Order: sequence, then C-alpha cells, then structure tokens
Amino acid sequence: MSLIKALNEDTISQISAGEVVERPSHLIKELVENSLDAGATEIEIDFDQGGRFVRVKDNGTGIAPNQMSLALARHTTSKIQKIDDIWKLNTYGFRGEALASIASVSDLTLISGQKGEDSYKLRQVFGKEEESVSIGESKGTKVIIRSLFENTPARFKFLKSEGTENSSIKTTLKALALSQEKISFRVLQKSKLLYYWPAQKNLLQRTAQVLGKKDLYFTEETKGAYKIQAVIAPPHHTLKNRKSSWFFVSDRWIESRVLQAGLMSAYRGLLMHGEYPLAVIKITGPNDEIDVNVHPTKSQVRFKDSSFIFKLVESPIRRLLETAPWTKKIISASSLKKEENLNFSNYEFKKTNWPNKKQEYSTKTLSQLAWDKESKNLEPKEESFKSIDYKIKSEQDQKISWAHLQILAQAHLTYIVCQSDHSLIFIDQHASHERIIYERMFQSWKKGNVEVQNQLVPFVLDLEEGQTSALLELNDDLKKLGVQLESLSPYSLTINSYPPIIKEKALQEGLLFLAKRRLETGDRFSFERVVSDLCATLACHSAIRAGKSLNLEQMRELLKQMDEYPLSSFCPHGRPVFVEYPISRLEKDFGRIV
Ligand code: ADP
Ligand code: MG
Repeated sequence: MSLIKALNEDTISQISAGEVVERPSHLIKELVENSLDAGATEIEIDFDQGGRFVRVKDNGTGIAPNQMSLALARHTTSKIQKIDDIWKLNTYGFRGEALASIASVSDLTLISGQKGEDSYKLRQVFGKEEESVSIGESKGTKVIIRSLFENTPARFKFLKSEGTENSSIKTTLKALALSQEKISFRVLQKSKLLYYWPAQKNLLQRTAQVLGKKDLYFTEETKGAYKIQAVIAPPHHTLKNRKSSWFFVSDRWIESRVLQAGLMSAYRGLLMHGEYPLAVIKITGPNDEIDVNVHPTKSQVRFKDSSFIFKLVESPIRRLLETAPWTKKIISASSLKKEENLNFSNYEFKKTNWPNKKQEYSTKTLSQLAWDKESKNLEPKEESFKSIDYKIKSEQDQKISWAHLQILAQAHLTYIVCQSDHSLIFIDQHASHERIIYERMFQSWKKGNVEVQNQLVPFVLDLEEGQTSALLELNDDLKKLGVQLESLSPYSLTINSYPPIIKEKALQEGLLFLAKRRLETGDRFSFERVVSDLCATLACHSAIRAGKSLNLEQMRELLKQMDEYPLSSFCPHGRPVFVEYPISRLEKDFGRIV
C-alpha cells in the first residue's frame, strides 16, 4: 500500500466533476437550474457536438463583479449556509459544486452583470483563470462551455455517440421546461432554433406544448400539506418504455419508484404488458419531509412517507381515468353541426338528420339490421326487416353514451360496427363484454352484494395438496364474491353456490389460479389485486366469444351496459375495446380532402 496523501484541488474538482456532470445533459441541467435560481424568466440554450459546446443565457439577477471568481470556486454558494438550510430550500442548487466542477473539465466563460451595473467576463480554461475584464453587457448571465472533457480523455471516452448525447440533452431540456411552465425557453442546436417554448399559464398547456400532444387530461388534488398535479394521455396512447412518464417533486425532475408504482397502479387493467402511460406528474410538499440531498445529480429524492405518496399519485389519476374523458370526444353526438347521412333504405343511404339541440329525429334504419337469430353469416335477411321508428330525444344537455351510437352491422361475427356523427367505431364484442362482467363482479365484491345462485347439485373441484387449504383460508373473501366452498377431502372441495354470471368452467379455472397465486405469493399477498386478476380471468371465460352471431338487440344491450362502466373502453387485460376510424380519415383515404 502506498502512502496516504491529500489530493490536490484540481484532482478533487475533476473527481467531483465525474459525479456532478457525468454527461453533457447533466451539465446543461445544472446551468439552467442556476438561471432559474437567479430568477430568470427567459432562458436560451444553444448546444452542439453532443453538448461539448454549450451556451446558456438568462435574464436573471446576475452576479456582482467581486463575486465572479467565487462563483467558480468549489463549495461556494449563495443558496445555503449550513446543512439544516436544505430543509427549507427554495432553490435547485445548494452544494456550490456545479460551476467549479464544470470549469475544471472545460474552457468556461462566465459573463454576468447586475441591473444598472457593468458586466464582467471571466474565462477559465480547465480550471485556470485566463481572463477577467469589464464589458458593457446587459443584465443577466451567460455561461459558455467549450471543449468539454478535453483535459480528461478517460472521461471523454465515456461519452456516447453525438446523437445519443444530443437526445439526452433534448430530453433534459423538455423536463426543465415541464418543471417550470411559467418560464420561456428557447433552445438552439448549432445556433439553429430547435424549440421555442414561451411561458404558459398551466401544466396542461405546457405539456401539450413541450410533448407536442393534444389529447391530454388534467387533474389536481391537495392532501394535507401535499399537492399533486397530473397531466395524462388516454391509455391507448402509450409508449413501450418508462421514459413516457415524467415525475417532478418540488419542481425537480426525478426518477422515483414510488411515483412510478402509484402511476402504474392507477392505470391497472388499462395497459398491456410492457406498456407505459404518457404522464406528467408534479408533487409539492413540505420541504422538511422531502430529502433532496440523496443523489449526486439530484435526480432522486426520499420521502418521509412513501405509502402516502403512492396513494397521492394513484387516487386522483385513477379517478380521472375512471371518467374516461377521451371516450367523450369519440362517441359524442353533441357536436353535430350539419345534416349527415345516417339512414338506410334497402341498403341505400338517404339523407337524414342527426339530432341537434332543437329537433327530434327518427331513423327507420336500425330495425333493418335485425338479423335472423339463427343466421350464422353476415347477410341480413330481407324478411326480418321491420320498419320501426327509433327515436332519440335531443335534449339540451344530451347524455354522451355508447348507447347513442348507431349500430350498422356486426363484422366478422366479432366486431360491432357503429357510427357517431364523425367516426366509424368498431367494438370488439368479447373485449367489451369481458370488461362489463369484470367491472360488475369486482364492484359487487367491493360492495359485498354479489348475486348468488345456490347449486342444486354442488360441483366438486379436485385439487392438489395445499391448494385446498389455501382456498379455504380465503373463504371469507370468496364468500364476498358469492362463492361458497366446503371442504370435502384434503384434495377436493365442493362449490355450493356461485354468481350466475360466471360459467362453471371459468370458476374452476379461476379458483385454481387463485390457489396457485396464494401459494406462490404467501403473506405478501394483496387480496384486492388478486380478486381483480381473478375477476379478469372469470370474465374472460364467461364473456361472449368472438365468432358468435349477435342480433341488433343483443348488440344494443351490450352498448347500454358499456355505459354503466366508465372504463368500458378497455378490456381488463388492457386491450382496447374499440377502435375509431374518423370520417375525416375516410375522406382523406378517398381523396375527398387533402
Ligand atoms: P449552487 O447552484 O449549488 O449554489 P453553482 O456552482 O451552480 O452552485 O453556482 C455557484 C453560485 O454562482 C451560485 O450559488 C450563484 O450565486 C452563482 N450563479 C451561478 N449561476 C448563476 C446565474 N446564472 N445567475 C446568477 N448567479 C449565478
Ligand atoms: Mg447550481
């Protein structure tokens, strides 16, 4: 072992630079955060060469001439004075490390001036002061970084390709803009304008602006001293990785397992495996309950009470999702402006009125689609057509519903084809029925009022050792689900009653699944989650199959039932229940509009 020696200042700074500015996007984050801490309302960022060149300019308070070289020294900060101050912090920075670290591994120029005073320019090349002059610049600060990591070739080698670094920079800048919606950002790449995000009034607008999305929904809630704001996209706009979810705590962009778990739990049953929601979530809370000093790049925080935070995220987002606001746009019949074609007569379309605010309308068409129940093919039978009037009252405040859609046909014995005023809508009959059964069972289980049917002849379920007792342990919960079990032998149970909505085979499979889950997960077993999975399995086996011919009344009944459950637009496994084909797209496809 060689002798222990103190490291020199240069080496200390370069080591710390490795932590603080592991890659150029971190450096940009530090510079922009400094601008925000200085009260800037307008920030301009220019970058090139994957961030080896960076220029950040702000209109903040600026730095006094005699403080310029202090700003570049290590452990010098204007933001805290003692460690306890970090519990009442209202700035991003507090360690006084960023500028010094960056200066030690780059050619850095700092130009800064306070209101009504001369500006100064200070240049340090790899930590050595080169130049310090007074210049006549306006208020604010400009930091220019060149030749990043040129004096530390080993670090330089760790940089990814220019393209990858650029995309990490863009993501970081989007996050910074999302974290501060009231600040204007101009982003240039190679001096060419890349993004211009002028100040916005709220998070919803900012999210739409920065992420370029339109179909977004907002919710907020205050719980005690905590507040959450969330912007989400509908569950059918998902991405294949977690990067689609943005989390902010005290305006800091962070990674967080708790927030991620709360978000995923809110979307339960709405996403397919490997899908992630598009969401922007912001939490604020008491500074002394959120530790921001747990990570070198400040990209994580620690909460005093994580399960509270989990619920804080999960509840309002789940509630918002349960109102399924996106379906309103799709199935709305209230935005009708003009006369539309919606009437069939002997397979021919004629002009018909859609309901508007004052009128009643009638279509004689729906009955024409009534098929012979026995019919196995798609051809409607002429003689089964009866002309009846189907009336919808147009009311001032028309209820938006699936039942209001006009049913046109059943395609491939699987999809119900409907239309609204502006779309064709295809509904998967199995997925839709599955969701209805699932919701019915799960909600009745929650309320403890499941409809039960006693079996005249109880059926017997044969099981393996352990499975029998695993199920008997869940007897009370199963009773709530309407399933009454009795022990017959160590390897079998009798089922004396169960809800009529479940088919016998589905129940057998469901119980077996439950027993296996119970044995696998043991004590760390969340019954609600398992019942939800169980209901999904039961629903899947009990729902109408694809390939079954439905008559008009059955289709209409299904649509009516969809109205009872807000999340009816997704099957319990997260598959979509419907697909929309806007008429505008049809018009484009046919070259009617360009
Ligand atoms: P920290 O932000 O943790 O205090 P930095 O090294 O990032 O540490 O910055 C050191 C100091 O330099 C800050 O505390 C601040 O006083 C000053 N400073 C840095 N950037 C700016 C800026 N854009 N405008 C005004 N002052 C700045
Ligand atoms: Mg800082």
